[in-house]
Amino acid sequence: MGNQTVPDLGLHPKLEVLRLSLKASPLTSIKDHNLENHGIRLSIKQDERIHPVLSGNKWRKLKYVLNHVLESGYPGIISMGGGYSNHLHALAYACHQLDLPVVGLVRGEPSSSLTPTLNDVQNWGMQVHFVSRSEYRQLRQAELVTQWRKAYPDYYWLPEGGAVTLALQGVAEILDELPDNYDWLALACGTGTTLAGLASQLAPPRQLLGIAAVKHANFLYRDIAELLGDAQSDNWQLGLDYHQGII
Ligand SMILES: *Cc1c(COP(=O)(O)O)cnc(C)c1O
Repeated sequence: MGNQTVPDLGLHPKLEVLRLSLKASPLTSIKDHNLENHGIRLSIKQDERIHPVLSGNKWRKLKYVLNHVLESGYPGIISMGGGYSNHLHALAYACHQLDLPVVGLVRGEPSSSLTPTLNDVQNWGMQVHFVSRSEYRQLRQAELVTQWRKAYPDYYWLPEGGAVTLALQGVAEILDELPDNYDWLALACGTGTTLAGLASQLAPPRQLLGIAAVKHANFLYRDIAELLGDAQSDNWQLGLDYHQGII
């Protein structure tokens, strides 16, 4: 058992069982003379310790999406990702635990050797379909292509990286677990959903710094603003030049 033992009465019973199997994420302070000399205190919120697969922000982003899917009685979930997608990995594992059918649309060709990620997701029962790069781009516009709608009628469509407004609430719960003696939060950004969740609830004068994990991530400005919808805030900024060449 984990140590998140306070019952969450808002959750579907199946999801509550899964939640109770997770661990709390510790806040670890980093000792470093350079930082101390500059009067900086640095701590790391170790969300990777929540669960080996359903780790960190992936659980937080999925929490209220999965709850909605279970409460509303959708027959399953359909999502998308690359061959090494941590999002698909976490989603497949969670759906396996919840006994919820799940489909993954994966960018690329079925190669003779599956990535370890795809190997796992298939073992957990995810239906994997490979899609071309052009179809993948189309899916990225958050439109589920008609062909897949027809193949999996009424399935809940979860865009790449779990980037939906429903994800923000779970992410914002990170803030409830932090002490109140900090000025800045820094995090890595893929789709920007985690940053949007934090930005939606972070009280000023605190600030967020998102570091894009991939090159050419200008799309983050638009996508984060879109996720925030009516909850726009100016408490965040992005660093787009620290990707070390990853495309
Ligand atoms: C998925 C992931 C991210 C990106 O999260 P987004 O919400 O898509 O921006 C960042 N860091 C780690 C370790 C991740 O697994």
